[in-house]
Amino acid sequence: MTFPRFQKSLLAAAVALAGFTAAPAALWAQTTAPAVAAADQAAKPHVVVLATGGTIAGAGASAANSATYTAAKVPVDKLLAGLPELANVANVTGEQVLQIASESFTNDNLLTLAKRVSALVKQPDVDGIVITHGTDTLAETGYFLSLTVHTDKPIAMVGSMRPGTALSADGALNLLNAVSVAASKDAQGKGVLITMNDQIQSARDTNKDVNIETRAFQSQWGSLGMVVEGRNYWFRAPVKRHTNNSEFNIDNITHLPQVDIVYAYGNVQPTAVQALVANGAKAIIHAGTGNGSVADRMVKPLQEAHAKGVTIVRSSRVPYGFVLRNAEQPDDKHDWVVAHDMRPEKARILTMLALAQGADTKTLQRMFWEY
Ligand code: ASP
Repeated sequence: MTFPRFQKSLLAAAVALAGFTAAPAALWAQTTAPAVAAADQAAKPHVVVLATGGTIAGAGASAANSATYTAAKVPVDKLLAGLPELANVANVTGEQVLQIASESFTNDNLLTLAKRVSALVKQPDVDGIVITHGTDTLAETGYFLSLTVHTDKPIAMVGSMRPGTALSADGALNLLNAVSVAASKDAQGKGVLITMNDQIQSARDTNKDVNIETRAFQSQWGSLGMVVEGRNYWFRAPVKRHTNNSEFNIDNITHLPQVDIVYAYGNVQPTAVQALVANGAKAIIHAGTGNGSVADRMVKPLQEAHAKGVTIVRSSRVPYGFVLRNAEQPDDKHDWVVAHDMRPEKARILTMLALAQGADTKTLQRMFWEY
């Protein structure tokens, strides 16, 4: 059986990391980087790959393991060494910021990553940023970065659905495409992008909607474009505020308040709301049914939480559409906020940032319309 070089490299890494046997060192050293004059290579854009873990750095026991593997195993230098084609599009340097599965991301991790991105984009010798990330919370992190990092330089988030050790692994092409997009002048000023499955998507609009399959990231508003063989094909532009046009700035943020999510379902009881308030939540995102509906028995507990100073945001557990203000609930009367088209987990991100700078409910509502 033959493997593409990237898979071979990661398989060797996986085997070595698992301690099964010594990895053939030649696989890591192997390179097909083109013979390019040093001056021509130096003229290429400089893209920094910030690695945080996830499946794109995952490794399974065999090539047949497309879904059973350990995330966050392969270090960034091995990922980059396995893809010498990167040198065709940019000068790429890597930094290991985190090495975790993204379901374990914390607010502190968000702050660490965003501050590093912010510092790098200020460097004149950096043209673009790629962030390798687990797919589970990739869209949340992307939205956070789009709200807090001030830059025109492209920031491309990328992950994979299959570990590099698997047959038909998607990580290598996703990473090459991400670097190619981050190196592109025509990707400037478009906010934080997600480059997976040949699509170029806005991190704000896009979510992990399909698990297992490689077409994991979808947006009800559509992709911005596609990247094919190193060229970007654009079809739309983001209209919501982001990056340079954002009123949030990671350079001024040191702490994020506790904001939690309550999920609605048949026979839901107030227990979760009451426990979260007792635990110090500053805001509760209510992931309601339908158009953000709230069960009759939940209205009073949410009003009681609000009376204690907890901001209530009405979102929906339904992935598509958007929540209308004063429709399913009299939001003006309750002084509740609606999350517009933001999924509950992304509504949490915006609400944390808003509360961190003392926004009241009117201001938070304005932010949900604008971002
Ligand atoms: N659980 C993994 C993660 O988010 C899944 C992935 O990366 O695709 O880290």
